[in-house]
Amino acid sequence: MILPGAAPVPGNVLLRRIVDHMFIDGSWDEARSGKTFEVTDPATGEAIGTVPDGSAEDALDAIAAADAAFGSWSTTTAQSRADLLYAAWQLMTERSESLARLMTSEQGKPLKASRAEVKYAADFLRFYAEEATRVTGEWLPSARADQRFLVLRQPVGVVAMVTPWNYPISMLTRKMAPALAAGCTLVLKPAEATPLCARAVFEIFEEVGTPAGVANLVTALDPKPIGEVFTTDPRVRKLAFTGSTAVGRHLAGVAAGNLKRVSVELGGHAPFIVFPDADPVRAAKGAAALKFLNAGQACISPNRLYVSEQHQDAFVSTLVDRVSKVKTGNGFEDGVGVGPLVNEAAVAKVAGQVDDAISLGAEALVGGRRLTDEPFDRGHFYAPTLLAGVRDDMRIYREETFGPVAPVISYGDVDEVLNLANDTNYGLAAYVYTNDFSTAIRAFEGLRFGIVGINDVNPTAASAPFGGMKDSGIGREGSHDGIAEYLETKLGGFAL
Ligand code: NAD
Repeated sequence: MILPGAAPVPGNVLLRRIVDHMFIDGSWDEARSGKTFEVTDPATGEAIGTVPDGSAEDALDAIAAADAAFGSWSTTTAQSRADLLYAAWQLMTERSESLARLMTSEQGKPLKASRAEVKYAADFLRFYAEEATRVTGEWLPSARADQRFLVLRQPVGVVAMVTPWNYPISMLTRKMAPALAAGCTLVLKPAEATPLCARAVFEIFEEVGTPAGVANLVTALDPKPIGEVFTTDPRVRKLAFTGSTAVGRHLAGVAAGNLKRVSVELGGHAPFIVFPDADPVRAAKGAAALKFLNAGQACISPNRLYVSEQHQDAFVSTLVDRVSKVKTGNGFEDGVGVGPLVNEAAVAKVAGQVDDAISLGAEALVGGRRLTDEPFDRGHFYAPTLLAGVRDDMRIYREETFGPVAPVISYGDVDEVLNLANDTNYGLAAYVYTNDFSTAIRAFEGLRFGIVGINDVNPTAASAPFGGMKDSGIGREGSHDGIAEYLETKLGGFAL
């Protein structure tokens, strides 16, 4: 139905399908309280929908539904779970254009990037449809001649999921697909900024015939009461969270205290190293392509660009040229490479980091300011920025920068640069440009990060393990590792 009071969104064809309900036990419900909250377009500030403002009670209803559905879902055949995921992949693929348009209205990224994310999101449905039928057991050597050991892998149970706004469809399917493939049931709370995308994903699962209670959606403006229920309710056996390190640390702590399994995909502070033997122009082009994806609002976005002294001029001049040409604006406009940031707080954080760096001696070669003139005045925009002369005493050197800012650091000592890159509490992604095989291997082995791109700025795919070390998280999503996170290992000892 068309939402009352919803503003027209350029090219958004999905709004007519939106129903303002949560999805619990196979039906679309309002919040028990009847409360709702509004969702806005970050490029225009216009209201684009309303969704239920759920509470702890709603989360408990959803957990009860997931718990009741677990017995039957976990004992369906792997092939039937695979069939459901294939059907979801097919429907998401058919619907990709309308999903991409919804994403651009709600989250702001350029339409081309939204299309790429929907494809990435659908890839998880297909990959885990395939993986569902590859969960196997083992027949192990026993301790006695009259004994047999059989190992069985079974779904962990009800999974509580919490997802962020920056990748509002793929972060859902990256969790839901392996969980459902493994035979788990789930309750998911999306970010308050992007509940419409989440609802669109659940509509797909409903339409392909997911049994009632298997996948449940709870939306809420205040996530805390839901998080409390997710981490304490004994029926929840696992928490799967993607978001900031601070929130992930808190939720993982409570969940682990209640002996739940935990997977947390958290923040990052990726180094990007240009070695002396690299081609600085190629590296700068790679940096420009990567840094401004999703307006820099990506956990794997490069946050420290270490460029060897001799490559400074070539690297920086190429990057200046590229960054100057990046068009900022509403993601529906042709040629826009950088959309809005998620909200005013995000703009203020980026502006604070850039201002701090400039006050300590960095130089903004491009950008370095908020965009507040028409047509930017109604949204949350920050100019694509290139900062040169960044040093380790600046906030931007340590704090996650969730914005379109490329900080360049000049280094002289090649033997030291891996230590500089590793000098962070984060450990998600790192990037290296080199044309020397030994340097590539040394960097790959020496960097304390879960993902390392070697002359590659897009080391992600449904088939590849994604996740961090240190404060960037615990566990992996994607690949065959991703389904293992939703499986228990059970040993059977049989005496003959
Ligand atoms: P956030 O931690 O503020 O929010 C993430 C989710 O947690 C949202 O759904 C939010 O509602 C919920 N949340 C917040 N407080 C909660 C609480 N007390 N209880 C329960 N839920 C709570 O992060 P964000 O700003 O939405 O997302 C950006 C962060 O996510 C960045 O740090 C980014 O690096 C990280 N991220 C990591 C990955 C990854 O795979 N490692 C992927 C995308 C984003």
